[in-house]
Amino acid sequence: MEARKAAEEGEFSKDLLPFSDLTALWKNKMYKDSLNFIQEKCINHPHTANYYNIFLEKSRKPWFRGIKLPRRAIVSINRIRAGRTSLASDLHLIKILESPLCKCGMSEQTVNHMFWQCGLYKEKRASLTKFLYKGKNHGPFWIEEFLSSLDPEVLTEIANFILKIDIRI
Ligand SMILES: [Zn+2]
Repeated sequence: MEARKAAEEGEFSKDLLPFSDLTALWKNKMYKDSLNFIQEKCINHPHTANYYNIFLEKSRKPWFRGIKLPRRAIVSINRIRAGRTSLASDLHLIKILESPLCKCGMSEQTVNHMFWQCGLYKEKRASLTKFLYKGKNHGPFWIEEFLSSLDPEVLTEIANFILKIDIRI
């Protein structure tokens, strides 16, 4: 009752609330809480420690900002960064598939197997490896290293491979 009366009959304060200051405080708190959450969840978990150790940037901008890549490639790269792909090895870990093996039967279907080793994709990766050899990089290749460099040319070549293969990463 008193609150209603004050709202209806009370005087307006001439002091403005500095809500823009409060917004900045709230945003900073949210950002710090998110980082703490990620650290707590990732760092001691073998499957997501890669994300924390390799990819977590203390930047508020998405990693693909300023780099033109097709959406499908961005989604796949995000999955690789998070350590949660649609490949057999990851689906096997969460008990969706019985076998972690690749269709080639030679190895588990991991991201690095798909990118650098699988015989089924030898022709499709030819331009990617040619590009890397041209940059005097002769391997062994590790996809996480290329993704963490955020080199637009390398990412474009990686995206081209992702678009060429018949499997969603
Ligand atoms: Zn294979």
